[in-house]
Amino acid sequence: MSVCQPVQIVTAHSVTDGAGVHLHRAIGTPHLEDLDPFLLLDEFRNDDPAQYIAGFPDHPHRGIETVTYMLAGAMRHGDNQGNAGRLGPGDVQWMTAGRGIVHSEMPEQEKGLLWGFQLWVNLAADRKMSAPRYQEIKAADIPVVTRGDVIVKVIAGALDGVSGAIHGIDVDPTYFDVALPDGAAFVHELPAGHAAFAYVFEGATETGGGDGASRVGRGHLAVLGSGDQVRLRAKGGAARVLVVAGRPLREPIVRYGPFVMNTREQIVQAIDDFRAGRFT
Ligand code: FE
Repeated sequence: MSVCQPVQIVTAHSVTDGAGVHLHRAIGTPHLEDLDPFLLLDEFRNDDPAQYIAGFPDHPHRGIETVTYMLAGAMRHGDNQGNAGRLGPGDVQWMTAGRGIVHSEMPEQEKGLLWGFQLWVNLAADRKMSAPRYQEIKAADIPVVTRGDVIVKVIAGALDGVSGAIHGIDVDPTYFDVALPDGAAFVHELPAGHAAFAYVFEGATETGGGDGASRVGRGHLAVLGSGDQVRLRAKGGAARVLVVAGRPLREPIVRYGPFVMNTREQIVQAIDDFRAGRFT
């Protein structure tokens, strides 16, 4: 069993997106453009409404999946396919944009903490123009695995024989929220050949094993190198970490804002289709 050692540690950088929402972006910046099959990871964590209130009014997506996981506060979403709903603390929305949707993601609060994540997962070339699909999972329906004092929410993937709440995603993703008391370890065997990262959002961890281990603090993402096994240990206090993995697609990536395709021509087509109102 070989341990996946951190090969790069990325600081989530402050960016503004949507209509003026302040975020910290760990994937999808010049420091880490993508981590195939993952295209973007944002953490939004703000208790100043001025930093989030404008939200993400109507905007399109094509060629990707967007995964929203809320920790605190609430977001209301709605789209041009007639879907609408509210994401509260602990809820997950896994949206497969496929050939195109137009949606809005707006804070449903005027004060208090808004905290969560958005991950973008690429779609394989032959799935980019598939029909849009939603999976919305309430916090209470997300399986929880406890190993002693370590508590893992299994959003996608499998842990100790427990299957995650999200099903039928092409890259066969793992998405765990791992809570570790000080000094506790989490070890998990990944599906063979999957690309993986660990994003620390509370406390700090020692990530990896032996001489190859590194300290990874809050707001930092460890890109995990090849190996079979993720290893984390909370250091200096309790820690909470997103452990995410998926099967790399190894296909060309051409991105233009919310559209991610394989060729420039497909991007031009996406812009054309959106402008002509063909995202229906
Ligand atoms: Fe969106």
